[in-house]
Amino acid sequence: MTDSRRDALSAALSAAQTRVADATRAAGRADGDVTLLVVTKFFPASDVVHLLDLGVREVGESREPEAGRKLAEVSAARPDVSFDADMIGTVQRKKARSVARWARRVHSVDSLDLIDAFGGAAARCRDEGERTSPLGVLLQLSLDGDPSRGGLVEADLADAADRVASHDALSLEGLMVIAPLDIEAGAAMQQAAAVRERFIVSHPEAREFSAGMSGDLEEAIAAGSTCVRVGTAIMGPRPILSL
Ligand SMILES: *Cc1c(COP(=O)(O)O)cnc(C)c1O
Repeated sequence: MTDSRRDALSAALSAAQTRVADATRAAGRADGDVTLLVVTKFFPASDVVHLLDLGVREVGESREPEAGRKLAEVSAARPDVSFDADMIGTVQRKKARSVARWARRVHSVDSLDLIDAFGGAAARCRDEGERTSPLGVLLQLSLDGDPSRGGLVEADLADAADRVASHDALSLEGLMVIAPLDIEAGAAMQQAAAVRERFIVSHPEAREFSAGMSGDLEEAIAAGSTCVRVGTAIMGPRPILSL
């Protein structure tokens, strides 16, 4: 928890905010249209505390139970600061209940089984006073040619959306995409944007479009992203190899 770490995070955060603002303007979009979700997976609670002190109020985590424990530590260190944490990584069904205790929303929902697991988990959390608002759901889209990163193909989105709607403790907020490694980022984002445009016609409430990471946030914002998930560009290289 040295000041130098805090200074480094401060500088990298400002640089990332500037990239997001520049890309938003370049795309002819309104300031504030795009949320910067700082991905803190694999980094300690002390880093999240620094981020809160720097004004960050939205973070992304990808591993349970580490995330739940870390966020509890952060809340204990800054009891007067309220912030939101999103689950952005692959979730096993058996972890749905513990994720539903802390997550504002889940970006990486990609099967009917997982929707049902989160629907049940969020309802139990609500019944037991562990959460008051519905758990937000973003359906993860799989683009052509890369099933390895998970996700639903376009033809499966309507059924998945109906399944979300069947759970009163869930709310459908939008789509999420991770650009496949083998497609140029701009092309991948445009392909995702086209799917999103078709999807939103029948699901106008599902406005969120979680797209873009450290390496492709400009392409994502040009394609209409409403939320970029930025880890490395702010936190530095992750200590352990991960997605
Ligand atoms: C880790 C992760 C990110 C952050 O990626 P960076 O390249 O470090 O910015 C974004 N989205 C998902 C789903 C992730 O797992």
